[in-house]
Amino acid sequence: MELKVKMKLNEKTEVEAIFNGPNLQDVVLEAGSLLAFDGVCAFCKGEDIALQTRVTKEKGFKYTEFVCRNPECRAKRQMGEYKDGKGFFLKPWEVGYKPEAEQ
Ligand SMILES: [Zn+2]
Repeated sequence: MELKVKMKLNEKTEVEAIFNGPNLQDVVLEAGSLLAFDGVCAFCKGEDIALQTRVTKEKGFKYTEFVCRNPECRAKRQMGEYKDGKGFFLKPWEVGYKPEAEQ
């Protein structure tokens, strides 16, 4: 079956993803990391969120994460991959890295 997930990340961006699997259990597992996301930053309650994938320099690991676009906040929420490689889950929000300018 097919499961279509549409989510609004911020004013300008809306993503739509289609997941395929043999049954509801599997497609919900596949789509889990998007379904679980409530669209709000846990720290600043902002709704201006970006979705990005970073690739590490050393080993080329990929990290997909939601990032709060509030410059004062920059919190992020990574997706972790299940060990068997069948889908992703959402990790808790982490405090963002703030470059210099802390007063
Ligand atoms: Zn935030």
